[in-house]
Amino acid sequence: MGYAEVCVNSPIAQRRAFTYAIPSGLSVAVGQAVWVPFGDKILQGIVLELTDYSAVEETRDIAGVIEPHLVLSQAHVSLTRWISEYYLSPLFDAVSLMLPPGFERKAVTFISASRVPDERDASSLPQGQREAIELVRERDKISLKELEKSFGKKRAQAIISQLVGRGLAVRSYELEPIKVKPKKGLYIRLTITPDKARQEAARLQGQRAVRQATLLDFLAQHHKFVPLAEARKRTRCDKPVINSLVGKGWITVRQIEVKRQPISYQDITPSSPLKLISAQKSAFESIKSSLLRQAEGRNSPSVFLLRGVTGSGKTEVYLQALAEAVRLGRRGIALVPEIALTPQTIERFASRFPRKVAVLHSKLSLGEQFDEWQRIRGGECDVVIGPRSALFAPQLDLGLIIIDEEHEWAYKQDISPRYHARDVAIKLAELTGAVVVLGSATPDVESFYCAQRGDYHLLHLPERVTPEEASPMPQVEVVDLKEELKAGNRSIFSSSLSQAIYESIAEGGQVILFLNRRGASAFVQCRNCGFVLRCRRCEVALTHHRDETALVCHQCNYKAAVPDTCPRCKSRRIKYLGIGTQKLEQESGYAFPHARLLRWDSDVTGKGKDSHGEILGKFRDHEADILIGTQMVAKGLDLPLVTAVGVVSADTSLNLPDFRAGERTFQLLSQVAGRAGRGVMGGRVVIQTYSPEHYAIQAAARHDYLSFYHQEIEYRRQLRNPPFAQLASLVYSHTNDALCRREVGRIRRLLVEERDSKGIADVSLIGPAPAFIHRLRGRFRWQLVLRGSELSAFLSPIPIPQGWTVDIDPVGLT
Ligand code: ADP
Ligand code: ZN
Ligand code: ZN
Repeated sequence: MGYAEVCVNSPIAQRRAFTYAIPSGLSVAVGQAVWVPFGDKILQGIVLELTDYSAVEETRDIAGVIEPHLVLSQAHVSLTRWISEYYLSPLFDAVSLMLPPGFERKAVTFISASRVPDERDASSLPQGQREAIELVRERDKISLKELEKSFGKKRAQAIISQLVGRGLAVRSYELEPIKVKPKKGLYIRLTITPDKARQEAARLQGQRAVRQATLLDFLAQHHKFVPLAEARKRTRCDKPVINSLVGKGWITVRQIEVKRQPISYQDITPSSPLKLISAQKSAFESIKSSLLRQAEGRNSPSVFLLRGVTGSGKTEVYLQALAEAVRLGRRGIALVPEIALTPQTIERFASRFPRKVAVLHSKLSLGEQFDEWQRIRGGECDVVIGPRSALFAPQLDLGLIIIDEEHEWAYKQDISPRYHARDVAIKLAELTGAVVVLGSATPDVESFYCAQRGDYHLLHLPERVTPEEASPMPQVEVVDLKEELKAGNRSIFSSSLSQAIYESIAEGGQVILFLNRRGASAFVQCRNCGFVLRCRRCEVALTHHRDETALVCHQCNYKAAVPDTCPRCKSRRIKYLGIGTQKLEQESGYAFPHARLLRWDSDVTGKGKDSHGEILGKFRDHEADILIGTQMVAKGLDLPLVTAVGVVSADTSLNLPDFRAGERTFQLLSQVAGRAGRGVMGGRVVIQTYSPEHYAIQAAARHDYLSFYHQEIEYRRQLRNPPFAQLASLVYSHTNDALCRREVGRIRRLLVEERDSKGIADVSLIGPAPAFIHRLRGRFRWQLVLRGSELSAFLSPIPIPQGWTVDIDPVGLT
């Protein structure tokens, strides 16, 4: 007898797989979706492994196969295990990433009569059983629900158990009715030859059956299945006409599955590969030779980091590398951050691989997702494009994975499983023999470190391609707000910035004012000298909470009162908090009364799903002069009329209580500085800050990634932050603050005990500390941060109860 290790769709299952026996006659393989009994329910499960022996004494039988087709490949099964082990997430959460859209459904129980040779006489049975078996025998099968209606829930279940026990009835399971049905349409075609149809049509004409004749002629022209609706429209025939031709046996009407396609190819003209410039060529050749060696089954550097500013031709390299993979009989997946998945991006891929591109993302209807998934699984698509979840598309013969803007935090999922698409992609590539290309203008410091160490292969596109006149990088001016104050300017606009705004609008240009709102009012800064209160132990900015008087460190819970005077310059203007977008809008209104303002942030765009496009469209159509916004505006900077960009306060992101604040600031400012002034009018960028000498600001203003990187990696080394150590964040939330804190203390003691008993030297624990968002939807949140190495393995055996969130390799603040 064989056994299967099954990952079960139940919250109780967590990271465990369960052993089930495979009943004789049932054929089950790795990657198969099956029904399994679990407690008193029948649940979905995915077979992860087949074994000859059971690890447990008593096993139950697999109840049935959900669908004959395997839902997971061997590589995906291995990936499931890896994600669950590495991110400490429930197995089914991991497997869910790879299941067909809409697959997760409940079982419906059916009862049918067992096929015993002699239909045993039911007359001797007790009344209930007799009635039930008669009902069951009348039909092929009957749902348990229906029996419950006749007999009552409890009684029906008891009766069925008795009948099954006597061997008179059997249960079977099916997925509850499909929420996503493949879309079907009625189609029509000839069943006779076109010649015969034309003859008959001529005859019918003579009999004045004009409509029938027209339809036959039409179908003779299109000798294939034609959508019924189209045939009816084109020939103006109605139902009786069709029925009579069907009656004569000349045509047939059939339901055929139609594919819904999220890309409309009508409007897309195919494009050909461009002739690469020399930097692109050498990048491409490296990737190409790696693809070749991988295809031959030889070992080869498989992760590339392609650094190049926007416009340096990275996408063209991706497209040609994908074409190369396809030439070698492989397929590709290209990931972009959700916000970058615009029709233009899709079109660029679709025009290079006509009808061979699939798009997978959450904005598609479930039906569209389902259809795309089926097309991909059928091997119809050379390239799958989408946000991080597209990584799990059932792409066969995977040869190349591309991750554009690899530094983006959107690649980390913030719900279970809390995976990072970059790390999972590299794992998947290892399992499938694929090549990975990471691309960015400002690579993640950890990625660049890997490239420096030689773990990744570094490729560089140093310049913009710009076929016409090379548009220069815009001039960036860093304004020291301390100097502004000394000069008596108390407005939030420095004289440089106001001048830039005035001039730009006067010349008919547009302005973008950029503000990092996240945490904007959370830190305390001296308005006179720019001094920011920091934790003495962790170096991060102390955070101010509206409902508390003290400042708090979100890494170690160090607390300090807000001082009356600035510790550095003794000014009394220390209680200054950063400003938000609304305040900025107000101030802009006072300062530039004639300018038309437009605000773009998540408060505005949170409402409708199309409002991003709407706001951007309004601004593009020059219905406003000044666009005020947060991070989001950095993505929409490809606006030709914009001639001035102001970063109102670079300090807001610099002072987030997070060791990545410098990196984040550099990335944002580079994006702003690198994209402004792309139109004919040139551009000007003004960055306002109290820390003009900060390396992240300096480097961004000079468009100098390397000097930023060298400084940043040095700080990381000194403070033992990633990539020099691994981090894990453990957050507990509860409605009772004190209880919450106690629980975090308890787990901390447990972890310390575990660490010391195992003699692990390099794991350190920070906290309990209030989480950055200390209170969320009425619950308090406290956290522990672990620093060390191999933290998944360390944490794996520790019983961490419900209510906890474990985040391995966290990014950003939680
Ligand atoms: P990135 O992805 O780095 O932003 P793209 O690949 O989008 O860069 O290239 C920027 C622009 O230059 C695009 O309009 C693209 O069509 C064009 N381009 C890219 N490579 C070439 C080339 N080799 N020859 C001519 N134009 C190119
Ligand atoms: Zn001061
Ligand atoms: Zn601290």
